[in-house]
Order: sequence, then C-alpha cells, then structure tokens
Amino acid sequence: MTGPQGVYDVQHPHFRDLTIPTVVPVKIADGMVWAEGPVWFSEHDCLIWSDIPSDRMWRYFPGLGTAVFRAPSNFANGNTRDWNGSLLTCEQGGRRVTRTRPDGTIEVVADRFEGHRLNSPNDVVVAPDQGIWFTDPPYGILSDHEGHRGDPEYGGCHVFRVDPMSKRVEAMATDFVKPNGLAFSPDARRLYVADSGRTHDPAGPHHVRVFSVDGFKRLSGGEIFAEIAPGVPDGLRVDIEGNVWISAGDGIHTYAPDGTLLGKVHLPATVSNLCFGGSRHNRLFVTATDAVWAIAVNIKGAMR
Ligand code: MG
Repeated sequence: MTGPQGVYDVQHPHFRDLTIPTVVPVKIADGMVWAEGPVWFSEHDCLIWSDIPSDRMWRYFPGLGTAVFRAPSNFANGNTRDWNGSLLTCEQGGRRVTRTRPDGTIEVVADRFEGHRLNSPNDVVVAPDQGIWFTDPPYGILSDHEGHRGDPEYGGCHVFRVDPMSKRVEAMATDFVKPNGLAFSPDARRLYVADSGRTHDPAGPHHVRVFSVDGFKRLSGGEIFAEIAPGVPDGLRVDIEGNVWISAGDGIHTYAPDGTLLGKVHLPATVSNLCFGGSRHNRLFVTATDAVWAIAVNIKGAMR
C-alpha cells in the first residue's frame, strides 16, 4: 500500500508509526554527480555531504542554501562525527580516513594496514569507546572517476577498526566482497555492514550483514540481515528503536531489528546514503545520485 504520490510502501503496520503520510521528499540541493556521505552538525544547523566525482564537499543551511565546504576533497565519500564533534571523512583519493577538528585542522586517522596502503575508505562510524570503524572497498581505485586508479596493496577489502588508545588499524572482518555502509545499533551491541559486491558482479552480494559486537572490539556472527533489491545497499542508518534504514536503488528500505521489512520510502533516483538530522533529529537527509533530499519522519535517529 502506498501513500501520497507513491512515496511510502507500507509492508508492516509499524511503518505508519515511523513515517508521516502527508510528507513528501523535498529536494534541497542538486547538480552533483554522485552525492554521498551526509552528516548533520546540530550546533551549526547544517548538513555536510560529499560529491565524489566532483572532488568536493558541500554544506547546506536550511533556509539559506548551499555552499562549497571543501574543494578539492580528495574524492571524499562517507562522513560521520566522532564523540568530540570532529568530522571524520573517508577520502577515496587520499586512500585514507581523516579527522577535521572544529578549528579546521585535518589529521590522518588511518591510511595503512600492516604497512600497505588502504584501497579507498568508503564509510565510517564511531563506537561508544571512540573506536573508529570503516570499510575499505576498491571503488576509488578502480578508475579515475571517483579517485585515482591504483592497485590494491593488502589483498582484501576489509572492515577496519582504529583503536582509540593505540591508534592501531585492525582488520575486524575480512570476508566481504565490497564492504560499504555500516552502522551500530543504539546499544552498540550490533554492527550492520552492507556488501555491495553486485555493483561489479551480477552474481555478487547485495545484502546487509549483522554482527554481534563484544566489548566494542570483537565481532561474531555476520549472517545476512537483509537482501536489497533493486540496486545494492550502500549507506545505512539506525533510529532510536533500532530500525535500520538502508539505501537502495529505488529509495530507502526500512527493517525492524528482527529483520522484518517494515516499508520503503521511494525516491526517483538511486540512493547512496542517508543520515538523520534537523533540530530534533527527526529529518532524513538522503543523497540520491545528483541530488540531496529531506524527508520529515516520525522517529529520531540514533546518535551515530
Ligand atoms: Mg558508500
């Protein structure tokens, strides 16, 4: 059953509690080539995101419009914030994860694993112990479109954790084809990780896996949580109830923590990523191909 203009595809009655049937997505910016990595800064009331092929990052102030935030951006992709409020950015061109402090200073968080360069970090999230988790598929080194063509150096596409004390880069999951978006459950006892391997292999994975997290630093499990079609899962976020909002080829697919598909929010372009934001943290900001959309929902996002 769909709502106004076919926006909402309700698969379970609870999806009506999470959405607002009269709300339609509002395009807040366009003209990008491939928008990605939205992140909300509540103290500045602004959204920052990446346009990977254009090698720049943008900033949007509600009611005021958009402006370039950083150019060049080293082909930045996913963004998040650490617990001190600094911006964390996956730089596909720089083959590294960086931290931008509030004073504008940029420092390297991770650029090597066991002495080898990373592939092209894609998305990043922070655990309550301040461990920084990121995925490292090869999208930024496959061509010059989203980075710089180059060779993989460590022989895999891992999910990594940067230890908050030692700063060591540790491989946490090594059996992904192309690990992509990732997010913790509100209690950080689960980690969801997308595998978008089907982008370059019709038989490749297009699912999200769920891991149990022990002590913020050990993973177990890793079974398939959701198969996403059409398209592949790219970025994902979790709300305060633990529902998982996953990007897809036709919009956003929302799953309950038990894996039940609750519903879909349809958008007219392939969605790459999303985040919760706004003054009450109940607005979805969605990067979808060349544009960014805002959708008011009836649930708040988990903090990270
Ligand atoms: Mg991604």
